Amino acid sequence: MPFPFRTLEELQVKGKRVLVREDLNVPMKDGDILDYKRIDASLHTLRYLSDKGAKVVVCSHLGRPDGKPNAQYTLKPVANALASRLHIDVTFASDTVGPSAHEAVEAMHDGEIVMLENVRFDPGEEQNDPVFARKLADLADLYVNDAFGTAHRAHASTEGVAHYLPSAAGFLMQAEIAALSKLLDEPQQPYVCVIGGAKVKDKVGVFSKLIERVRAFCIGGGMANTFLAAKGVNVGKSLRDDDLAPADAIVELSRTRDVSLLLPVDAVVSSSFDNDAGAHVVDLPQIAEQMILDIGPKTAAEYARVIETAKTVVFNGPMGVYEKAPYREGTRAVGEAMKKATQAGATTVVGGGDAAAAAEELGFAEHVTHVSTGGGATLEFLEGKELPGIKALEDAKTREDRRW
Ligand code: AMP
Repeated sequence: MPFPFRTLEELQVKGKRVLVREDLNVPMKDGDILDYKRIDASLHTLRYLSDKGAKVVVCSHLGRPDGKPNAQYTLKPVANALASRLHIDVTFASDTVGPSAHEAVEAMHDGEIVMLENVRFDPGEEQNDPVFARKLADLADLYVNDAFGTAHRAHASTEGVAHYLPSAAGFLMQAEIAALSKLLDEPQQPYVCVIGGAKVKDKVGVFSKLIERVRAFCIGGGMANTFLAAKGVNVGKSLRDDDLAPADAIVELSRTRDVSLLLPVDAVVSSSFDNDAGAHVVDLPQIAEQMILDIGPKTAAEYARVIETAKTVVFNGPMGVYEKAPYREGTRAVGEAMKKATQAGATTVVGGGDAAAAAEELGFAEHVTHVSTGGGATLEFLEGKELPGIKALEDAKTREDRRW
């Protein structure tokens, strides 16, 4: 499939200074990196550029320092982690577009890597200030955006800088767009969306977009309670949206489009969040004043049957409170079924955020076609929204094509 933006392999990078925006916003505690997934996801692009003889200038944000330098959010530990994973020295600049950055970039030889300090130490980053974007651009000859997880933000390093430099998508960005596009553009049928998580109101956009494409939604998590309540089921003390109108609208739309909307027929319930010992299975609607905290085994078996016979599956939120052992079996069953579907040749995608965290924790992340690294960006992509980081790359290509 041709992309509407330039890809990394289309750039001539030897001897050029290439500014690479990665999403290296890793969870940290007391200076220690708690999870290396985002770092590892960036390595393909960085290694390729270094091997091709580019001068690689990496930038990212970390946390929310609110436009001011703050030692708590320094990217220095991330630069060290990149160096040890790439087996190459990574020079760390103690500022973003200041003297340290310029000195480090000027001293670079082909194949070397410099990492800039947190771009959010400058207020111009989140304001997408053209002056700051221009200063970033002045450090480089080419721009590569690999930060899919931040592509829904129009910031200077994700959007603004693409106005000033020939630009391309990195390998991670490209892989994310290729995998997620398959879910929107002519997916193979039957296509099933397994959707869960806390609230319907957070996922109305995903429902609205995918309802035009899927044969079935398998609904779990807190949002299933809202659908059950909309059907008149008493969900006791379960988490549910107060406003039932979005759920009603989705039910109505799926009826007119002939899309199956599968809801739990049984559930794992408890009298409170803290009373794990009290967790037990009930057939719905016999909940009394308890809380629904996972789909039950009958529901899980039915969802698994639907998933295993699908050709395209997207998993978009846990079926229960998967963080706690008594409430993760529903999500585990979905993961097992996705694994079988993958083995049978289906395209299976885990849609970022909590779904990705659950897939990782329950061990099925490595058995699906693609696990998205985005949270908000993945959701917005699946809602069919235009992501500013991607749009900027498309505009840069149009501009460059016109120049020739
Ligand atoms: P989301 O970010 O919308 O995908 O929501 C994920 C969160 O929903 C996770 O932290 C789950 O623990 C939580 N969750 C899933 N099912 C339930 C449920 N039945 N009741 C309360 N919270 C739930």
